[in-house]
Amino acid sequence: MTKILRFFFLPLILACLLSQCASNKAKPYDFPRGVDTTNKTIEYQSKKIYSIPQLGLHADNRFDGARLNGFSKTEDGGVRVDIKPENTPINPSAYYAFKIWSDDPQEIVVELNYLHGRHRYYPKLSKDGKVWSQINSANFWMATDTINAYLRLNLTSDTLWVAAQELNTSEDVKKWCLEKAQHPDVNFSIKGKSKLGRDLIYFEIGKGDPYKKEAIIILSRQHPPEVTGYLAMQAFINGILEDTPIANAFREKFRILVFPLMNPDGVDLGHWRHNSGGVDLNRDWAFYNQAEVKQVADYFAQTLKKNKNSVILGLDFHSTARDVFYTMTDETPSKIKGFKDYWLQGIQDAFPGYTPARDAPSGPLTPTSKNWFAIQYEADAVTYEIGDETPRDFILIKGRVSAYEMMKLLVLRE
Ligand SMILES: [Zn+2]
Repeated sequence: MTKILRFFFLPLILACLLSQCASNKAKPYDFPRGVDTTNKTIEYQSKKIYSIPQLGLHADNRFDGARLNGFSKTEDGGVRVDIKPENTPINPSAYYAFKIWSDDPQEIVVELNYLHGRHRYYPKLSKDGKVWSQINSANFWMATDTINAYLRLNLTSDTLWVAAQELNTSEDVKKWCLEKAQHPDVNFSIKGKSKLGRDLIYFEIGKGDPYKKEAIIILSRQHPPEVTGYLAMQAFINGILEDTPIANAFREKFRILVFPLMNPDGVDLGHWRHNSGGVDLNRDWAFYNQAEVKQVADYFAQTLKKNKNSVILGLDFHSTARDVFYTMTDETPSKIKGFKDYWLQGIQDAFPGYTPARDAPSGPLTPTSKNWFAIQYEADAVTYEIGDETPRDFILIKGRVSAYEMMKLLVLRE
């Protein structure tokens, strides 16, 4: 009997255990347009106070979210700020952020000198790193080759913050999530660590037991400077957490899984696009080479299986030149017939005269999160893109309206 056990049942049990383990991991998928996402070397900034003694000027990048690679005097008495990406090749999302001050009050012209790529983000200024405003257009101009940009700044011994976008570091994101976690339907937790050991922040929204509920996945900040997409995601979450009949019904009916900061290393290191493995995380949703995507994808595989949740919708918030929705083509399988057409129409109708709610569909060709939602779960999938300079008050309204229109469709559907 013991022998029979050993030779027949033991291998069977082992095989079951192994298959159980395997099914708790996200399945790899070879997309037609694959991308090599194995680790690449990145260059770190020299974190210090940069000074030009002749001009009595100083700049500082010793804070999370900073990007400043050089600070020198130009021939015509101005200042040149060097800005480099973390590595190349890279999408030219030339992000910068630094503090600057002067020993004596003076007006100075600062050149943003991009050592790769070209100017993208209209400069924002702040006195405290928290409240930001766009630089006055009279004090900003582009070089004739449209690569570099110039700012005229009035400096004093008080610190002025200059940045491509409002700072929203991993600490800021965590603070916001903990605020949300005050809501009785929100559960906050840490689901792993980035390559450099920063928390992978997670929260889940829903009333009661998530067992057998349909699920919606929300992601943001795979790309560090894409702060406007993150602001829309925040407004979207706020919409879901409202105390209204539709939002209450939505939280009752669905399980909502949120990773608001997919790339904490990239965000805190002031990266243009990549994680600390030098890789675009939004091309790693095929073989999960990067720690961040691997842990998040495996968490989904494991928890969705355990709770028997069917994912019906995946949303990933990003930023680009203008507002646009990257959706799937009509041929891609979906569990909610016609969802994206009704949803985008609903958003469009809420803003008479608003045209940027453009729909740009594509098939599942590249290893992006959007295509992963479609392939892994046959879920509706949308990359929700906000323009870099879309007015912030509009982003907040649009994010809320988008949540409302989505909830209406999903709660009321048959
Ligand atoms: Zn992006």
